Amino acid sequence: MKLEAARLGLSAVGVTAYDIKYNYAEYQGLAVGDTIIVGIIEQNFDSTQMSPSVRAEKAALTAYAGLEDRMSALADWIRDQGYAARPEGFVGESMVIPYAVAAGLGQLGLNGQLLTPHAGSRCRIHVMSTDAPFVHDQPVDYGIEGICDKCQVCVRRCPPGAIPANRKDSRGVVKAKLNTKRCLPVMGKAAGCSVCMKVCPVQRYGLAAVLEEFESTGEILGKGSDDLEGFDWPLDGKHYGPGERPRLGRDVFETPGFTFDPDRKRPLDWKDSSDSDDGGRAEALGY
Ligand code: SF4
Ligand code: SF4
Repeated sequence: MKLEAARLGLSAVGVTAYDIKYNYAEYQGLAVGDTIIVGIIEQNFDSTQMSPSVRAEKAALTAYAGLEDRMSALADWIRDQGYAARPEGFVGESMVIPYAVAAGLGQLGLNGQLLTPHAGSRCRIHVMSTDAPFVHDQPVDYGIEGICDKCQVCVRRCPPGAIPANRKDSRGVVKAKLNTKRCLPVMGKAAGCSVCMKVCPVQRYGLAAVLEEFESTGEILGKGSDDLEGFDWPLDGKHYGPGERPRLGRDVFETPGFTFDPDRKRPLDWKDSSDSDDGGRAEALGY
């Protein structure tokens, strides 16, 4: 299956167990087996370094489209072997990052994204369920948490300060829980933002180079350089180098007629056009 995934052009693939706690309530019961296949495809490097920008957003969506096609083809291949396989819908039926971590494809970075050894968070993730008896992969400690603790570049560079510096227990998972009330309006208005992806040294240089620098100098590769930390801000057209962040007014966080309440408890209804909140985007993104 992994050879077929590579032949189809997936960057990486892993196998882990279905876990109901990662499956949003409204999509439970759709899995066709107790095994989850996690597929990853790498996003275009050059476009990602231009985040935040329309070009970077286009690269993300292009990566998702290519990933969906390949996962669909891989599901066909599994069905040809006599087993059931069901790729999840694009809307996001599960939290994919915990599955990717469980399948050994990377570790959770402080920026809330999956950091893979090769491309850091510059990758897109999709999952499918299957009843095929594949051997499950195991989580791998790549040393990313130690790098994050020393780095913290995303914490300092996030324009609205949405990334906390420290991890804490959040519903049974120890992580740096993003402040979605600060992040999501900025994502919506600043071309998807993704500054936290752009400035991550593991995304930019790869984990091997970052670890080598850390082991030989104790420093984080690129930290403090404009090459790593600089970005152009689409809301004012200015460039912000290390130590500089755009000032965000209330207008960025408030949109007339739009109410964002990440603490809402009632079930989501994607078809309800009168629904004026975020439509569950925060959860769909895995925040
Ligand atoms: S997408 Fe932008 S606002 Fe959201 S956490 Fe990343 S850097 Fe911060
Ligand atoms: S920018 Fe630094 S702290 Fe943030 S996720 Fe990347 S390595 Fe971790």
